Amino acid sequence: MTRLDLPAMTRPAVEAFVAEHLGHLVDGTVSGSPSIRGGQRSADAALAGFDVTGYANQRNEVAPINRRGASRLSPYIRHGLLTLGQVWDAVAGGPERDVQKFRDELLWQEYARHWYARIGHASARPLRRRPATTEPGDGWDRMLPCLNAAVTELEHDGWLVNQARMWLASDWTVRHGQDWRRGEDRFFRHLLDGSRAANRLGWQWTTGLGSSKSYGFSRYQVERRAPGYCQQCPYRTACPIEDWPDDRPLESVEWPKEVDLTGPDRRIANSEPDTVWLTAESLGYSDPALVANPNLPAAFVFDEPLLARLRLDAKRLVFLTETLVELAEVRPVELHLGDPTVELRGRSLAVTHAPVPGFQTRASALHPAETHPWPWLRAPGPGSVKSFSAWRKRVDRS
Ligand SMILES: Cc1cc2nc3c(=O)[nH]c(=O)nc-3n(C[C@H](O)[C@H](O)[C@H](O)COP(=O)(O)OP(=O)(O)OC[C@H]3O[C@@H](n4cnc5c(N)ncnc54)[C@H](O)[C@@H]3O)c2cc1C
Repeated sequence: MTRLDLPAMTRPAVEAFVAEHLGHLVDGTVSGSPSIRGGQRSADAALAGFDVTGYANQRNEVAPINRRGASRLSPYIRHGLLTLGQVWDAVAGGPERDVQKFRDELLWQEYARHWYARIGHASARPLRRRPATTEPGDGWDRMLPCLNAAVTELEHDGWLVNQARMWLASDWTVRHGQDWRRGEDRFFRHLLDGSRAANRLGWQWTTGLGSSKSYGFSRYQVERRAPGYCQQCPYRTACPIEDWPDDRPLESVEWPKEVDLTGPDRRIANSEPDTVWLTAESLGYSDPALVANPNLPAAFVFDEPLLARLRLDAKRLVFLTETLVELAEVRPVELHLGDPTVELRGRSLAVTHAPVPGFQTRASALHPAETHPWPWLRAPGPGSVKSFSAWRKRVDRS
């Protein structure tokens, strides 16, 4: 068993902790995101500071930064520091059009989670595929300021506005025919909000692999959403993205065999727990298992075999550590490094179900004493999750 001492709640102390204990699991230097901190206080402050006014018109703005209308709440939503329900309620009373647009986006996040809970690992195989013409490239043309700024922000801050994600994904796959899975992995390694659910759905939707048509990225969007980039561009008189990319033909693939990772709709209690098991899906103070067991210590395992495979950017681990260290200010928290099924073996665990395949595998080995339902924004149902619009109609009716 490897139990780690918690660092102090300062950025340098957390970075030193990650470098010392988790440095063998990351590539490159260890530093946190300069613009986004982990922790419940940061999550609450980000939500309190978000004004939804103007969101509908400005959510797609990329540059300059002061034109942007996106909330930047996604890392906190991703790791359960903010639930979709909390965020939904927080914008009540704002201008109707902005509130509606913002809530539509929260429903996209919810849809991504339902979709992933129903197809799990098969989400890596999209509904449609490009015939075997995948090109070997691996990157973006960083001579173009529009692409260079987006890649720099991805790698430096660990976050991007939705529009820039679409530019990068479209350029990677639709224009250059590069394998979408390598691009998706690259995003996943860097994004503080990186989740297989929303990231795979975003890539498939943008590149046309999971929707009816692809998103074509060209100079037009740059001039509209990031005025100024084209003036600085060395290719401004011979722009390589002047025209829409050709939409290459796609072949349909069968809908995969479904799984059910949605979890219980009420608490399952088998015996008395002695520890709350925290997963990266649900690290907020409002985690249902934490709330139900206020006197128990919490334990989090940095999953060494998984992290060794993923090779995440250190910013993601700094974010998680900051979150856990801050939680330790209000209740005892144990940090472990290793395989969760080994580190937590023999403990009587209370946990919040996470609708992802990795949770199912580990929970079936650990047999939690108490399992709390995932805090869905919309209760999962048996209907189809093949398209957002059909899913949306169904959940709006129910
Ligand atoms: C190629 C690609 C990859 C993506 N990868 C991820 C990812 O790994 N994790 C992730 O959370 N989102 C992902 N998204 C969705 C979206 O880009 C981000 O959620 C959003 O940019 C986060 O910024 P924000 O919090 O300011 O969003 P806001 O615009 O302020 O929206 C508020 C919240 O709504 C949700 N949301 C907004 N847009 C979307 C969307 N298109 N799909 C799903 N949820 C949405 C998010 O939870 C977001 O935090 C991806 C989109 C694309 C096109």
